[in-house]
Amino acid sequence: MQLEQINKVAMIGAGTMGAGIGLCFALAGYDVALYDVSREPLEQAKHRIESSLSAFLEEDLLGSGQAEAAQKRIITTTSMVRAMDKTQFALEAVPEGMDLKRMVFKNLEDLCTPDTILATNTSGLSITRIQDSCSRPDRVCGMHWVNPPELVPLVEVIKGGHTSDATARLVYDLAGKVGKKPVMLNREVPGFGVNRLQFAIVREALNLVEQGVMSPEDVDRTMRYGPGFRWSWQGPLETADLGGLDVFHKIASYLFEDLSDAKKPPAFFSKIVEGGRLGIKTGRGFFDYDNMDRDEILNKRDRYFIKQWKTIQGLKDS
Ligand code: NAD
Repeated sequence: MQLEQINKVAMIGAGTMGAGIGLCFALAGYDVALYDVSREPLEQAKHRIESSLSAFLEEDLLGSGQAEAAQKRIITTTSMVRAMDKTQFALEAVPEGMDLKRMVFKNLEDLCTPDTILATNTSGLSITRIQDSCSRPDRVCGMHWVNPPELVPLVEVIKGGHTSDATARLVYDLAGKVGKKPVMLNREVPGFGVNRLQFAIVREALNLVEQGVMSPEDVDRTMRYGPGFRWSWQGPLETADLGGLDVFHKIASYLFEDLSDAKKPPAFFSKIVEGGRLGIKTGRGFFDYDNMDRDEILNKRDRYFIKQWKTIQGLKDS
């Protein structure tokens, strides 16, 4: 399969991720079939796509012609046969569960041509184990998007144990063609790249709160106005280059041994979760969201992401 041969994409699972990812493909000019097991999630997906497009229009990220054209390129279906018909690329985004994913891939293989490329948006299940259920595992790959996928530029491409170089390259190039910023993982590791990096920080953040060194508010302020502020321009390694590797090496020499190397979530965190404080969905997490509208919180965040993307795009290519 060549990149230029791909003109129709099937999204298998049209939930939180599937709807947003489908929209990205449609905005990039691909015909998209959103497949789900029943009409209800498909209707919700259509609604989510409409509201994302409205936000894009209001923020001048798109013209109305582009939004309408994208919407017309998307069909919704509860027939996998219809979704896979004349499809050159299918991306699975069904709930996280190995048995379900393996079953879905088996079904997809029964319905596609030998060179159709199949990818999974799994957050962390083994790509190799999913591939083991396939007769042509070389054309199966990980393609991990970040929520909300229509706004976050990163896409991780993960080679499973049986993924061919050509498949991984094609999926990487496809992500780029859709306007995303892909990265390649040459082999799968738990958490892939993004969650390993993110959770290294979460572990230290929890440690600082547990030790009483900082409040949750100040941990978040530190990240938002310090590292987070810089990181959309320069990643942590370029930050080190600009600061001087000798300096960073010296700091690493005394600091690494003091950083948290906890092997389990700290007890206070487990207690919060067990107590039902799950974040905005229950009204309380590390912070208090009582009397606040969940959709409004997410909408405000998404508008910020759109503004941020408008500001930074094109400023630095890599
Ligand atoms: P979701 O629950 O919002 O959506 C999953 C959809 O799949 C639902 O609409 C469900 O009806 C549908 N579905 C269930 N069984 C199906 C089947 N057999 N065939 C087709 N569709 C089926 O889940 P989500 O948050 O979109 O996550 C999907 C995948 O993406 C998971 O593997 C998840 O780990 C991964 N992921 C999620 C996020 C996130 O933040 N939500 C981020 C990155 C990756």
